[in-house]
Amino acid sequence: AIPLVVAINTSLAARNGMLIRDRIAMEQARELDVVVFDKTGTLTKGEQGVVAVETTTGTDEDEALALTAAVEGDSEHMVARAIREAAEERALSLPAVSNFEALKGRGVQATVDGETVHVGGPNLLRQLEIDPPSDLAVFAEDAGANARSVVYLVRDGEAVAAISLADVIREESRHAVDALHNLGVEVAMLTGDSTAVARSVADELGIDTYFAEVLPGKKDEKMAELQSEGKLVAMVGDGINDAPALARADVGIAIGSGTDVAVESADIVLVQNNPVDIVRLITLSRKSYRKMQ
Ligand code: ADP
Ligand code: MG
Repeated sequence: AIPLVVAINTSLAARNGMLIRDRIAMEQARELDVVVFDKTGTLTKGEQGVVAVETTTGTDEDEALALTAAVEGDSEHMVARAIREAAEERALSLPAVSNFEALKGRGVQATVDGETVHVGGPNLLRQLEIDPPSDLAVFAEDAGANARSVVYLVRDGEAVAAISLADVIREESRHAVDALHNLGVEVAMLTGDSTAVARSVADELGIDTYFAEVLPGKKDEKMAELQSEGKLVAMVGDGINDAPALARADVGIAIGSGTDVAVESADIVLVQNNPVDIVRLITLSRKSYRKMQ
């Protein structure tokens, strides 16, 4: 039989928009040492918009944006949507592309006029072993310091343009970080985005630790790292990329309009997209399970 206190607790949780898929995890929530948040779409709104386009000398800005939007044509990533919108706003006509391929956690590639063109972030540049030219590097550094993500357009093994994108930090994220600290819980952030953006968002929110430029397949390893330090770890995320990390965490929490995969890998689902609900979850767990002892 289910202990009465747990039954009450579960329906109380449900009324607070928390779906408990694993009761052990709900109980463990009271003892968490660290909560790891996914950045994009969890701490931020994930609604990106293009801020600026920077090109190397000899590259036309509109042409670069049109080419980038064309290569992004079949991508569902928020970055791709923002870039296509920007090209549309400028009423640019896009070149035809073929052989589109999504490079998970890195970017995209396609063939344009017989040439292979890449678009992606820092993980892509690392894979292609490309250093951006100094004008683009300066642009990226400045963007990163302002918490703006940067993706590069790569032709012939050279980065020829960079596009900066702004996202919005959720107002509730700061409250969540402060309240977690008040509960004695450490806060960390995990992202595939650049170190510069991660640092800037972490500083802004007062987050203790961040892991940046992490490839989708490596996110769960960060959970294991924290666990090997003897910590009880919660992971909060919404994306397909987050599923292995959610599964690996002691308490996996899918938030808001999470993907089906994220929801299936999670122990607890928070119906609303509000990081403060993590705090309410821990508080509820502490209250409920103290009664049982
Ligand atoms: P996140 O940690 O933000 O959920 P992802 O794993 O989806 O990130 O992507 C990591 C990084 O890879 C992004 O920040 C971006 O730099 C790059 N990237 C991924 N998909 C695309 C795309 N379609 N176009 C450009 N860059 C991309
Ligand atoms: Mg994400």
